[in-house]
Amino acid sequence: MQYYSTNHQSPKVDFKQATINGQAPDKGLYFPEQIPLLSKEFIENIANYSNEEIAYEVIKPYVSDAIPEQELRKIVNETINFNIPLIKVTDAIFSLELYHGPTLAFKDIGARFMSRCLGYFVKNLSKKVTVLVATSGDTGGAVANGFFDVDGVDVVILYPSGKVSSVQEKQLTTLGKNIHALEVAGTFDDCQQMVKQVFTDAALNKKLFLTSANSINVARWLPQQFYYFFAYKQWLLKNNPPVIAVPSGNFGNICAGILAYVSGLPVKHFIAACNANDIVPSFMQTEKYEPKKAIATISNAMDVGNPSNFIRILEIFQHQFIDLKKVLSSYSISDEETKSTLQKVYQTEGYLLDPHGAVGYYALQQYLQNNPTEKGIVLETAHPVKFYDVVEPVIGEAVPIPVTVQQQLRLEKKSTKIAAEVDLLKQFLLSL
Ligand SMILES: *Cc1c(COP(=O)(O)O)cnc(C)c1O
Repeated sequence: MQYYSTNHQSPKVDFKQATINGQAPDKGLYFPEQIPLLSKEFIENIANYSNEEIAYEVIKPYVSDAIPEQELRKIVNETINFNIPLIKVTDAIFSLELYHGPTLAFKDIGARFMSRCLGYFVKNLSKKVTVLVATSGDTGGAVANGFFDVDGVDVVILYPSGKVSSVQEKQLTTLGKNIHALEVAGTFDDCQQMVKQVFTDAALNKKLFLTSANSINVARWLPQQFYYFFAYKQWLLKNNPPVIAVPSGNFGNICAGILAYVSGLPVKHFIAACNANDIVPSFMQTEKYEPKKAIATISNAMDVGNPSNFIRILEIFQHQFIDLKKVLSSYSISDEETKSTLQKVYQTEGYLLDPHGAVGYYALQQYLQNNPTEKGIVLETAHPVKFYDVVEPVIGEAVPIPVTVQQQLRLEKKSTKIAAEVDLLKQFLLSL
């Protein structure tokens, strides 16, 4: 498989080079030259395949010969070695719990896959690789955990000071060793901007071998398709495919879902559920894409004012708005609606959502109201305990904290505070 840049000014590369580069040199995003089609036989008999087999079948055409079969199977098996259950919440709404991995959010899947692929690729490199990543909350922990103690890789995480939850902050600031946390006085968009600028600095890139672990990296983006297939495997109404609601920020997750759909996965409709950061919901109304400054909300991992991966969704539909509209709807949900959903679903169904899942749940409910014969799945992207500061006051109860998280909360935070200035980031990278 070859990958081209969405800006069309860089050479095509294979999976290995796309993973190592992160972003294309022309600042575009890598996109697969063809979208593979899965056989009908595979889809119809999906319930007879193990998750490991499904994941391997899905990713194999994208990796092609960049990683030998045995190694790729091992990477896939390690990536998905936790539960991903589909839980019935009401007659019409099911929750795909993506939070049973080590950092309690769906980003574990992409981060675990990418870190293992990169770990495999750098074995043959002479230079140390520095992975740079900006996080609005959950990426940092997942990437830190995935790359912790990987030989030949340094990880530098930028996060917006005071805008991540306490559990999130501990997950990315307490590991040490090859993991470095930069606490930036600014927003997530500032962090992302700094990272982007560093990647385009030719002099610095001569000295250091830099790559990104944000969801723009194909090795983080593509494995997110796995759990859409796992959901369908557990979906009993095979003659009535699900509507799938995805809490969305940078749009990597939902873009992977749409890719899976184009490859043959039966899905009725996709819903991009956003918080007050309504760039895509507005686009779906006006066909005008207007990035804005990110607004802080209680679903902070989705506080993104210029969603990087949306361009890939347009690419899938070859920029045909009419075709996109048939497959995707998008809603913007307020913090008030998020809280009342969280509270209501807990009270009436006994099911505890996290704020991101609640955004998805409410958006799905809205869609189902207008489409009463459909049934849907909301991707529950994080464990509610990760956001206990938000959840507890809403439900008026304590959220039981798992022992592993309690231990983490007791560890000492180690971060380097910096202003949102790219020169300071460069200095830090050169000092490693
Ligand atoms: C990152 C994140 C999202 C948004 O995912 P994207 O792929 O950036 O759209 C949603 N929910 C949680 C809990 C997250 O960590």
